[in-house]
Amino acid sequence: MKSSGSQKRRKPKIIPRPAHNVSRAEISKSALKVLYRLHKAGFQAFLVGGGVRDALLELHPKDFDIATNAHPEEVRALFGNCRLIGRRFRLAHIRFGREVIEVATFRAPADGNDKHVDVAHDHEGRILRDNVYGSIDEDVWRRDFTCNALYYNIADFSIWDYVGGVKDIENRRIVVIGDARKRLREDPVRMLRAVRFAAKLDFRIDAKIIEAIGELTDLLANVPAARLFDEFLKLFQTGYAEKTFALLRKHNLFAQLFRETDDELESDDNFLRFVTAAVRNSDKRVAADQSVTPMFLIGVFLWAPVRRLAEKLRSKEKMSESQSLAVAAYQVSGLQQPRISLPKRFTAPMREMLAMQPRFLVMKGKRALKLLEHRRFRAAYDFMMLRVSVGELEGKVGQFWTDVQKQDAQHRAASFQIGPKPGTKQRRRRPRRRRAAPARES
Ligand code: ATP
Ligand code: MG
Repeated sequence: MKSSGSQKRRKPKIIPRPAHNVSRAEISKSALKVLYRLHKAGFQAFLVGGGVRDALLELHPKDFDIATNAHPEEVRALFGNCRLIGRRFRLAHIRFGREVIEVATFRAPADGNDKHVDVAHDHEGRILRDNVYGSIDEDVWRRDFTCNALYYNIADFSIWDYVGGVKDIENRRIVVIGDARKRLREDPVRMLRAVRFAAKLDFRIDAKIIEAIGELTDLLANVPAARLFDEFLKLFQTGYAEKTFALLRKHNLFAQLFRETDDELESDDNFLRFVTAAVRNSDKRVAADQSVTPMFLIGVFLWAPVRRLAEKLRSKEKMSESQSLAVAAYQVSGLQQPRISLPKRFTAPMREMLAMQPRFLVMKGKRALKLLEHRRFRAAYDFMMLRVSVGELEGKVGQFWTDVQKQDAQHRAASFQIGPKPGTKQRRRRPRRRRAAPARES
């Protein structure tokens, strides 16, 4: 630890503007506004994290984090549109329309010095609270990976690199700052972050991290379930879900998030193909700027465990398939809550989407026709088509529901074998009478 202490006093390598490719054109106007205003007020102001990293990689960053020596209250005093948030970290959020710029005050590392009284760990080494302000050359050591620890200085547009982040970005490597085991223990979510950045940036994860992950996956169980839900969104809704999913499985992390799903994936290749098709599809939607809802992927992940439990329920009690799926979805998502807390606004529609699945097999009559008007029809239809794509349902079922959506009312009625209302009864009655007649004769 002594050696890392002396490391911590190291001066940054300062890369002047002409020697790097981070241009202000790549930084959002709002982020620039915040940086300039802090600077003019006499504070240090740096863009840090994903904004600098992605700009260096020419990936057009969308999210901008700012680090400053101004304290949160001082930040708030400078901006009318500012809110202070967070318990574990106190942060300033500055809002510009839909864009939020996050401003964090430099923090001192969790270990070390007695002046840092406001730091707490749990017995596994996880940091519970660290609201101790510091200077930039302290702040850098509490960041997770070298590629995330570059600071772009608004004063002269230079980049400050304390940890060799520029080189690691050039070599496309995720490297942890400090001792891998210790840093992953401090915050087990960093294991997920390593995988997320590797997938997004197409970087290799450094062997030390992989080794540490191999020992520490269980620690994710100690992370608050609400935080894991936030991380779930970043893992699966930002356009790199397919690769992220494969990497999470490879490093035995997926099982920590969705245990029952992982068990099913191990034993059922079709389910693996189903989930893979879903994450790939979700990436395509993100790439095409279409909306993605977490309830869809949650439904996909829970589908095999739900189906299994539904069968069990039906073997014990008399229940319709829809009912059993609804009950099973309720129970399985309940089992999920201690790991990843799934908000009700997602689990409720997810349950509907799963329970609707048997209704796609009924392609005749008014109730079937009514399915088209169900508020979850779109999601349930997409889900059903995914099942078709892996051979879980016959192609003609998918074809039917695809076709009827394009039909006008008359054709639709015919497709669902619903006759026109007036006359239907008469036509039915007449043949009955005719049938009855010969019976009387004989
Ligand atoms: P992106 O925004 O693309 O997901 P990011 O690197 O900006 O990536 P954020 O979660 O926005 O990630 O965090 C901003 C920065 O804060 C990170 O780059 C990193 O320096 C630091 N940071 C965030 N989370 C952690 C963590 N769990 N441990 C250590 N440092 C972190
Ligand atoms: Mg960010």
